[in-house]
Amino acid sequence: MGSKVQTKKLKKPKKEKRTKIRIDYSICGEDGKIDPRDCAKCLKVCDPAVFMMHSALDLIYKDPNDPQRWRINPQWGSLCTHCLKCVDICPENAISITW
Ligand code: SF4
Ligand code: SF4
Repeated sequence: MGSKVQTKKLKKPKKEKRTKIRIDYSICGEDGKIDPRDCAKCLKVCDPAVFMMHSALDLIYKDPNDPQRWRINPQWGSLCTHCLKCVDICPENAISITW
């Protein structure tokens, strides 16, 4: 006599929605008219410090003082609390966030 094995159908784990933060670099950064070093408002307003500013990776071959070679990077998007302060404060509407 075989013993009856009870199986329980496992629920599929809920897919965690990821926060997507996009900076339009055609506005702010290497292709845009805004030098993020002069603005950096998003950087300052974000409490969990989601953003970082860095030079473009190929900077070594370019002029390091070229304002269009810097960019804001939403490096730690998982820390975002969706407060939208950065979106509101960006003078160029260069930030979009979805989650
Ligand atoms: S929505 Fe708020 S927490 Fe998220 S990146 Fe912008 S300022 Fe930071
Ligand atoms: S607030 Fe907007 S314009 Fe200013 S650095 Fe951030 S993304 Fe660029």
